Amino acid sequence: MAAQGIGLYRTEFLFMNRPDLPDEEQQYRAYAKVVKAIPGTRVNIRSLDLGADKRAEASNRGNDTFTINPALGLRSVRLCLHDTSLFRPQLRAILRASALGQVRIMIPMLSSLGEMFRVLDLIEETKVDLTRQGQPFDPEIPVGGMIEVPAAAVSADLFAPHLDFFSIGTNDLIQYTLAIDRVDEAVNYLYDPLHPSVLRLISMTIRAGKSAGIPVAMCGEMASDVRYTRLLLGLGLDEFSMHPSALLEIKRIVRESDLAELGRFAKNVLESRDTRELHALVDKMNER
Ligand code: PEP
Ligand code: MG
Repeated sequence: MAAQGIGLYRTEFLFMNRPDLPDEEQQYRAYAKVVKAIPGTRVNIRSLDLGADKRAEASNRGNDTFTINPALGLRSVRLCLHDTSLFRPQLRAILRASALGQVRIMIPMLSSLGEMFRVLDLIEETKVDLTRQGQPFDPEIPVGGMIEVPAAAVSADLFAPHLDFFSIGTNDLIQYTLAIDRVDEAVNYLYDPLHPSVLRLISMTIRAGKSAGIPVAMCGEMASDVRYTRLLLGLGLDEFSMHPSALLEIKRIVRESDLAELGRFAKNVLESRDTRELHALVDKMNER
């Protein structure tokens, strides 16, 4: 079992730390370079996730100084739908890069079905334009949704039939579920991927994906942390997107795991009615 592809390509880095915004051509070249560099493997290109902790200097877009709480403001897919002059060139660039290899589009921070349908419509419109202009692209390009807002996790069964995959963004999912600003060190101590509410949302998302027959990945920090690998396997997670430094250890755990046993363990963890007991169960499983 080798690592396969890129689970999360954060496109906002193309927009940050520069005086101007990258145009379609510049974006296309950047995406094409990555796709061509790893032929035959999948690249999940995440659409622009600007705003909150990710600021672009080139414009005020995503930098609204009047927003008191930018994590809850016009960020990510909300910003893209608010300003389609930012979004459309990106969709064109991603679709054009899909002609060169296995590209998937990943939409961050979905919170309502309306947003998802609007994005899917824009993708279809972009395909029509590209076809008219004779530009090649993958007509079957998979489109996935990031589940990182509790609202999306709770209603994951409503999103799943319209998407090709889910990717759980635990960095934001934990922030929003536990009401802890991820850039505020004063509340860091409340950060807990094993909080029962977080585990329930992850489990709901995985179950919704399974019922709809779509794979569920995880691309937040939790997927790179060996302390959670067995639990996530037991919950039924299909794909882990992680830091390269975590790869060897997590691969070893996955290879050595008995999925039926981990399924029983995950069920016990979900049913635990005591947080200390829950942590102890996870520690015990990891000691073996
Ligand atoms: C996440 O929220 O878990 C995630 C992968 O995205 P980011 O950290 O870029 O918000
Ligand atoms: Mg996120």
